[in-house]
Amino acid sequence: MQTISLTESQPINLHDLTLAELTAVSQTWGYSAYHAEQIFVALYRDGVTDVAHFTNLRNDLQQKLAEQATLTTLRQQIAIDSSDGLTRKFLLALADGQTIETVLMQFKGRWTACVSTQVGCAMGCVFCATGQMGFTRHLTPGEIVGQILFVNRALAQTGETLRNIVFMGMGEPLHNYDHTMRAIDILTDHKGLAIAPRHITLSTVGVVPGILRLAEEERPFRLAVSLHGATDADRQRLVPPARRWPLAELIDACRVYTQKRNRHIFFEWTLIEDENDTPEQAHALGRLLQTVDSHVNLIPLNPTLGYNGRPTQRPQVKQFQAILAEYGIPSTVRQRRGIDIAAGCGQLKAAQL
Ligand code: SAH
Ligand code: SF4
Repeated sequence: MQTISLTESQPINLHDLTLAELTAVSQTWGYSAYHAEQIFVALYRDGVTDVAHFTNLRNDLQQKLAEQATLTTLRQQIAIDSSDGLTRKFLLALADGQTIETVLMQFKGRWTACVSTQVGCAMGCVFCATGQMGFTRHLTPGEIVGQILFVNRALAQTGETLRNIVFMGMGEPLHNYDHTMRAIDILTDHKGLAIAPRHITLSTVGVVPGILRLAEEERPFRLAVSLHGATDADRQRLVPPARRWPLAELIDACRVYTQKRNRHIFFEWTLIEDENDTPEQAHALGRLLQTVDSHVNLIPLNPTLGYNGRPTQRPQVKQFQAILAEYGIPSTVRQRRGIDIAAGCGQLKAAQL
């Protein structure tokens, strides 16, 4: 993990720091772990949004923070609600003027936040609007955490609370591994927002070194791997990184993860009519996953400007599921959310304003 560099001239963004890192920084300033904890609580329990507002701290520490620290601010540019009221999409501006999208979705009365980890994405999956826009930059830990603080404030206005977080917004989280993990460590810290890891799902396109690294680390969130093809040829048509990490390597890494962490993996499959929804392809997927502790999430294709495919029709979806069941593989069809406001899976593409 990248270390925090301290220079007098550059303010340090407190939202970028885990409690351990904040403690280390505080100690270099001459303050104890107790003071670091007070700052952390002010950030994540009290929701302080301005370095001039740490009024619960001793005066000299308030002064120090006002001079040497900054916080992440995400400015809302647009907020739109889907017609059914179950999805809200926010376009948020970062400090450098780049924009990202963060989505709130309601399932059975509970809110889930879909957060971004990058501006754009380098992976280039053909049916994904984020992939179609290319890669601009990684988000900082504070920009990832900031999205959760932002949606928490939005929900608090109506007396509601956030239940789940999915790392399924713009970007490939394992391509921005260190910042994403630092953000998860901040979000799950008991002294702060204390979000239960089982309420967090991270979705990856299948970055093999990242999956192997996760297998060695104890972060008990849920892992989802996007497959979309069960042979290398099929997968490479849709997911360019499949050329770098062939299926045999990817599935081996997944097996290592499930065995070391004793946890199953969700596999995502965007269902595209006549592209990857035939009975033969369902059988190929069944065979591929037979020896992995897995659950398949099927996502009928959402429309994007840069891709012409159509979603699989309901009877074919059912048939696909029935074939997977023959191999003992459970599957669910992802509930559609926010399609009318382009906030569904793969539709996120921040407008350049
Ligand atoms: N980069 C990560 C997470 C973001 S995308 C990943 O690819 O896994 C979240 C899910 O939406 C992925 O499974 C992705 O393949 C899927 N997806 C992308 N574009 C889609 C589209 N147009 N319709 C349906 N699902 C899509
Ligand atoms: Fe990136 Fe995921 Fe979209 Fe592929 S599907 S381009 S990895 S965001």
